[in-house]
Amino acid sequence: MSLTSGAEYSCCNLTLRGLSLSGIRTAISVPELSFCFDVGQGFPFLLNLKQFFISHGHLDHAAGIPYIISQKAMNHQEAPKFYMPPSLVNPMYEIMKIWQKIENHEYNYQFLPIKEDEKIPVKGNYFVRPFPTTHRIESFGYTLFQSQRKLVKECQGLSQNEILKIKNQGLEIHQHIETPLITFTGDTQIEFLESRPWVKKSKVLLMESTYLDQRKTVEHARKWGHSHLDEIIPKLDDIESEKIVLIHISSRYPTDEALQILKQRIPARHQNRVDIFPGR
Ligand SMILES: [Zn+2]
Ligand SMILES: [Zn+2]
Repeated sequence: MSLTSGAEYSCCNLTLRGLSLSGIRTAISVPELSFCFDVGQGFPFLLNLKQFFISHGHLDHAAGIPYIISQKAMNHQEAPKFYMPPSLVNPMYEIMKIWQKIENHEYNYQFLPIKEDEKIPVKGNYFVRPFPTTHRIESFGYTLFQSQRKLVKECQGLSQNEILKIKNQGLEIHQHIETPLITFTGDTQIEFLESRPWVKKSKVLLMESTYLDQRKTVEHARKWGHSHLDEIIPKLDDIESEKIVLIHISSRYPTDEALQILKQRIPARHQNRVDIFPGR
């Protein structure tokens, strides 16, 4: 793992490539679909992507926006699209105006204010949907969905001819199913779990857990708009995700120590489900 290549995690036949460490850097990309959640300081593994979903404006998540824009311009790539909380759009335009002046160069890019629950296409039958989270400034999480056309229940297991008969009666034989694959929370208090019903059903939940033990209290975590492992453990039975990958872990916990704490604190029945996303 390095700042150049990021760490890799596989899920849902997709790659998650990125880094996440509280207050330092968070950027997690899905290279096959050419997008990422947050950009950290704008790492090399992000520079060829097309779409960027920004959770909020804190620098450990968003500082890389101008750098990515300028790198793309230098390499004559098409204008990148940055989706972000509405309140971040104008300040980011201001920053870009100043940077364009400094560099004496006009850039091509799009800053798009998101609307909660809107469907943002990424590639093929994949799309992303934002949902509001609870942080010290306006913030959103994002879920990657896959939509699929499947036979309605009544037709499953029937032969081609039988299905054709049903179709000829004018009945609907297909239904559209939207499966929440990967949810990325950005920075948020534990309340995000109730923000939208699909969040707890996502196959993979990339969930912030800044603090892992008594070195910081739940009150402290909440004061700064973060989640604490003490709050997450009682919710584990409620979360249906196959994998819960903790992100944004405080730099006070070296990776080995963080894994050790999980081993001690996560109930045995959930041990295989809970992991951490590396940040260094
Ligand atoms: Zn952060
Ligand atoms: Zn933050």
